[in-house]
Amino acid sequence: MEYDPIVKGQSHRTGVRPNLSDYEEFWRDFRWEEMMGELDGLEGGGLNIAYEAIDRHARGPMKDKVALYWEGRDGRSEEYTFSDLYRLTNRFANVLKRLGLGKGDRVFTYGDRIPEIYISLIGALKAGAVIGPLFSAFGPDAVKERLGDCEARFLVTTPKLAGVVRGTVDDLPSLETLIIINREKTACELNEKEVDYEALMTEASHSFDMERTDKDDYAIIHYTSGTTGKPKGVVHAHEAVVGHYATARYVLDLHRDDIYWCTADPGWVTGTSYGIFGPWSNGVSQVVYEGGFRATNWYRVIEKYKVTVWYSAPTAIRMLMKAGEGVAQKFDLSSLRYLCSVGEPLNPEAILWGNRAFGLPFHDNWWQTETGCIQIANYPVQDIRPGSMGRPFPGVRATILDDNCEKELPPGEEGHLALRAGWPSMFRTYWNMQELYDSRFRNGWYITGDRATMDPDGYFWFVGRADDVINTAGHLVGPFEVESALVEHPAVAEAGVIGVPDPLAMEVVKAFVSLKDGYEPSEELKRDIKRFARKKLHSVACPRKIDFLPGLPKTKSGKIMRRLLKARELGLPEGDTSTLEE
Ligand code: AMP
Repeated sequence: MEYDPIVKGQSHRTGVRPNLSDYEEFWRDFRWEEMMGELDGLEGGGLNIAYEAIDRHARGPMKDKVALYWEGRDGRSEEYTFSDLYRLTNRFANVLKRLGLGKGDRVFTYGDRIPEIYISLIGALKAGAVIGPLFSAFGPDAVKERLGDCEARFLVTTPKLAGVVRGTVDDLPSLETLIIINREKTACELNEKEVDYEALMTEASHSFDMERTDKDDYAIIHYTSGTTGKPKGVVHAHEAVVGHYATARYVLDLHRDDIYWCTADPGWVTGTSYGIFGPWSNGVSQVVYEGGFRATNWYRVIEKYKVTVWYSAPTAIRMLMKAGEGVAQKFDLSSLRYLCSVGEPLNPEAILWGNRAFGLPFHDNWWQTETGCIQIANYPVQDIRPGSMGRPFPGVRATILDDNCEKELPPGEEGHLALRAGWPSMFRTYWNMQELYDSRFRNGWYITGDRATMDPDGYFWFVGRADDVINTAGHLVGPFEVESALVEHPAVAEAGVIGVPDPLAMEVVKAFVSLKDGYEPSEELKRDIKRFARKKLHSVACPRKIDFLPGLPKTKSGKIMRRLLKARELGLPEGDTSTLEE
């Protein structure tokens, strides 16, 4: 595929000097131990994510700095300084201790992006718990499956969501207590397992002696998005904060005076690593917006809070593109200086669009729930090669392995993307699935499950999830390449591409396409899209078949579920759909 010309990386609008000003030099000198040295650690030894995120700022000159600008979906706004959060999270840690929490117990949250959820997660870490944040949009079965899998003892939720799970509580013998946050003070009768968050918080002391945790103690469980199968509980230790801190500083380029906005929900790893711990361990103010996606609301948030660094995802960017540049132009977005994206391949068209709409490109970066922090990225000092995920974060060694995951392949050859095991935020196990965990490592490499290539300059190019790659007429075709070409067509908002069986070619490429507003599905439009694709792609990669869909099935974190498109196309069982966005 032909790629568009290199795009200038750093914003020249503000002239802010990037934290990482020379990639090669930084790479040469980089030591994870030095990153750890920039954090505090616990007095007398040990490490706790919550201490690095909140306490160390609350005890110093930044105590009165606003850590959290919160805006509710009804427009209500609240501000919390580092010292506010210090006291509130201490209170919550005391609440948990009073309820009998022991070190290592699992505490899950199941709520919208309200301040109490953030306070609970951090307070639970202080008390030595392992936290498990869940999307509020999960149904009862998804919650039950996750809580049951890791035998959670506490669930922090709201009256409305408690109503969703009440029917399943009897099937969860380990779940002792539901802590109910009742912001709206709605009439809510609590049963014998339920306690009132506000009442307990009022009674609790705001001083707390942090539970002594070690860098290897488990801290966070995230169930993976399930684009390719049953969700697995990915476990991270307190040491992960070293990765959160370093990458937020050097990839997201966070500076002390930034106002940062990560649009992800803490139910997805991006919403914890970079929606809680990355910015706060750097002492940076961040915005949390409770509302969902709407182009005008999002732009209003940027304008109101004068957001400088914005971290979002391709699916959201495509929706902004769908709404059109004109909507962006109605707002004053001049505070923005740096834009990043993660979660899915970022189509080159989206990068170029960012340049048009905001005068800034989106910087793509790659990582997974399992990696805990960004591994491969485009940096402010480097020009972007649209379509590339960028280069490895210093301290991370990435390579491409052959089909047997044994030999490293030379530049240009496609294979398994693998990472040298041992970076601080590497996952420590899959809960209850140690064998599966072990199977992901080979000769000291962590096999990511993605296929990619590396170019001679060390830039990595995503091909697809190993399970999604299409084998057609002896060629391997990555869905991303085809989807990126299709979204360049003026009528196409989103595209999801799969392989369907074919007697001659083994598989042929089939595309599912949703259209931008103002375009209607028609046979003529299908032909036009196919003609357009032929100009952009190798003939084997051109979709043989195109179906129009009003929208593509996605996970709650916004990833296109190709597995589901394929199951539906072939009439196969849909498998686990708990993470499907409604
Ligand atoms: P999750 O663990 O749910 O966040 O999913 C991780 C997977 O999302 C990766 O293994 C990739 O398949 C995909 N992914 C994340 N970021 C990118 C990116 N920048 N480019 C391509 N794929 C990505």
